[in-house]
Amino acid sequence: MVDLNHLYQEQILNYARQARQSKPIAHPDATAKMLNPSCGDEVSIALKLDSGKISHLSAKTKGCAICEASTGFALSALIQMDEGTALKMPQKVEDALTQEKDMPLRGGEAFHPIRAFKSRHTCVLLVYQAVAKAINNKRIIK
Ligand SMILES: [Zn+2]
Repeated sequence: MVDLNHLYQEQILNYARQARQSKPIAHPDATAKMLNPSCGDEVSIALKLDSGKISHLSAKTKGCAICEASTGFALSALIQMDEGTALKMPQKVEDALTQEKDMPLRGGEAFHPIRAFKSRHTCVLLVYQAVAKAINNKRIIK
């Protein structure tokens, strides 16, 4: 694991645990899977939408601690977000990593130390890309 600021290390591990405890949801409205070949990460997302907002979100991850942590964080941070905003998250999170903008989600500053590790940015982004892909898949199905 990359050498994270001590303050954030525990938070990252807590988020990773939350990802591993994610329970599948019955009858999801949309699913998607994203891969990060450079790290071997896989994130599979299932979600339900209610009035255009993410009402349920579950994930299965295989991969590094950062990918797991980002997914665990997103599982709670994206709940009740409207789909239009969720579609913008991959770009906003990427900007937070590459342009030193604040993470667009509360509690996301635990991921700021990852900025220094460019090869790990995709590990953080993968879950947001998977959620956006799921929402887009659903739009196609409609
Ligand atoms: Zn990774």
